[in-house]
Amino acid sequence: MINYTDELRRHNLKATPQRLAISNALHSYGHINIDTLYEMMLKKFSSISLATIYKNINLMLENSYVQEVKIPQNKSVYELTKSYHSHLVCTECGVVEDIKLNMIPLLSEVTTSTTFEISKTDLVLSGLCKKCQ
Ligand SMILES: [Zn+2]
Ligand SMILES: [Zn+2]
Repeated sequence: MINYTDELRRHNLKATPQRLAISNALHSYGHINIDTLYEMMLKKFSSISLATIYKNINLMLENSYVQEVKIPQNKSVYELTKSYHSHLVCTECGVVEDIKLNMIPLLSEVTTSTTFEISKTDLVLSGLCKKCQ
């Protein structure tokens, strides 16, 4: 178990036992949806409610400690905030992987072919992972 006390404090979050456990679950899974997180948490805190998990995750999102990855046609997954990256999602088993892509060519194409000013580039690519092919 990694001690996330300082990391939480750096994001102005009090390091409660629940938040430390959430941090470790996010760390070991990489990307986790709220249901799996809830199951993990119940093993440690038998009386914890789903509402408490949501409350904590939302606060962590507000303080940029955690990031939400919106998965098309599925539940969002959460991860500890990392440097900018995109995601690969398996439509069969749901595994989510990080991928670093160069967004500059894509953005310059958008700039030349539309009048849009892009402010966010959350990119999720769907397909089949090696196991599911
Ligand atoms: Zn898969
Ligand atoms: Zn990620």
